[in-house]
Amino acid sequence: MGRIISIASGKGGTGKTTITANLAIALGKLGRKVCAVDADLTMANLSLHFGLDDAGRTIHDVLIEGEDIRKAVHTTRYELVYVVPAAVDWEHVAKADPRDLPKVIPKLKEDFDYILIDCPAGLQIDAMSAMLSGEEIILVTNPEIASLSDTMKVGIVLKKAGREVLGFVLNRYGGHKNDIPPEAAEEVMEFPLLAVIPEDPKVREAALEGMPVVVYAPDSKASKAFFELAEKIVGME
Ligand code: ADP
Ligand code: MG
Repeated sequence: MGRIISIASGKGGTGKTTITANLAIALGKLGRKVCAVDADLTMANLSLHFGLDDAGRTIHDVLIEGEDIRKAVHTTRYELVYVVPAAVDWEHVAKADPRDLPKVIPKLKEDFDYILIDCPAGLQIDAMSAMLSGEEIILVTNPEIASLSDTMKVGIVLKKAGREVLGFVLNRYGGHKNDIPPEAAEEVMEFPLLAVIPEDPKVREAALEGMPVVVYAPDSKASKAFFELAEKIVGME
């Protein structure tokens, strides 16, 4: 049975989707069979990282029609890596009920070693439903105080709800002179530091090419940090 891990944060734009895509591929390279699920039902963009086109079933179809989520699993160009994409048209977005996510996502446990859930930000019902679909949580924050504080709130709520918070990823570190350093961030947060992903222009370059940076520039600083994160997660099996 696989591990279901939600990738969560307080604010939008911290790097959840980027981390979901890169961690999925890095875990695949470690021989794990992975399914990345786009559970950001209103602002879906995980497919872009995998260069998937719009054809086929989505998480929205699963929620709307009550069908098995396994019918919405798509292959990618990467070995052992699969994706459940989300719809982006308003009709699907308006009809899908996020509260059913915790019922449908765990069905993937039988088929995969890892299920990574790309969640919306915050603590609204759509974000809560996505985050609570996971059994374990990876928090994501940027190195600034408001981001840390909001992500910690999310971590505390999820811990209270009985989820295992593995720790937090400090993403986009080193881009600004006032960035909160990792040691200070760990002191503020009540959770362990899992990885520091540097601010790296290769991440955006890769996104423009429709591929995660671990594929586009495997030797970049960000990619090295993603591979280390994957090793750490596998080390917790
Ligand atoms: P979220 O899913 O949390 O809203 P995204 O993964 O979409 O965040 O990332 C937001 C933006 O930040 C994107 O433009 C992405 O390319 C960029 N980004 C994320 N991580 C990094 C990084 N380590 N270095 C540089 N840019 C990054
Ligand atoms: Mg996102």
